[in-house]
Amino acid sequence: MDYLNIAACIPCTEAEGPGKRFSLWLQGCLQRCPGCCNPEMQEFVPRRIVSVDEVLQRIEQAAAMGIEGITLLGGEPMLQAKGLAVIARECRRRSLSVVVFSGYTLRQLQRDALPGVHELLAHSDILVDGPFIATMPDLTRCWVGSTNQRFHFLSGRYPSGIESAGPCRDVAELRRLPNGACVINGAPRMSHFLRS
Ligand code: SF4
Repeated sequence: MDYLNIAACIPCTEAEGPGKRFSLWLQGCLQRCPGCCNPEMQEFVPRRIVSVDEVLQRIEQAAAMGIEGITLLGGEPMLQAKGLAVIARECRRRSLSVVVFSGYTLRQLQRDALPGVHELLAHSDILVDGPFIATMPDLTRCWVGSTNQRFHFLSGRYPSGIESAGPCRDVAELRRLPNGACVINGAPRMSHFLRS
């Protein structure tokens, strides 16, 4: 059975892609982009180790909230693509869409063939690629932080240009968790995931 090292999970958010989405942040990233929104998710340390089956169960529960899909981000999802590919395949089977944010470009992903990457891409609807570059802030498109990052529409589910079409700029959500911590997600131009 595949296991994932996850940094955070929100069962239903409207700030990480089109519609309501189950969002999963993966722990560990090699890029070290200056100005990274989630620097605590860069280190390769165990955070929450969960099985693929457990994540699928959580997605099943989230489906009751009317989610239209899942979003995978981090951290770097492509470094855990093998397990995520199984999740993406099962989500697509349930008609849930799959959006992935990666610090690698699509060309790098196709060339370097990390384990499970081709399968994950095959079961994804949108890939947003490229590292965050703080000197190139994107002030117009939804969901991304810098202008170098590209949207790749890998299926026909979403129309090209969706990232510029909606009124979703700078959506941010504030949550209070059962343990009292406050979490902000969304608005990549803000420093988010503030915790107390
Ligand atoms: S790729 Fe994303 S998670 Fe990784 S360092 Fe860059 S901004 Fe942070």
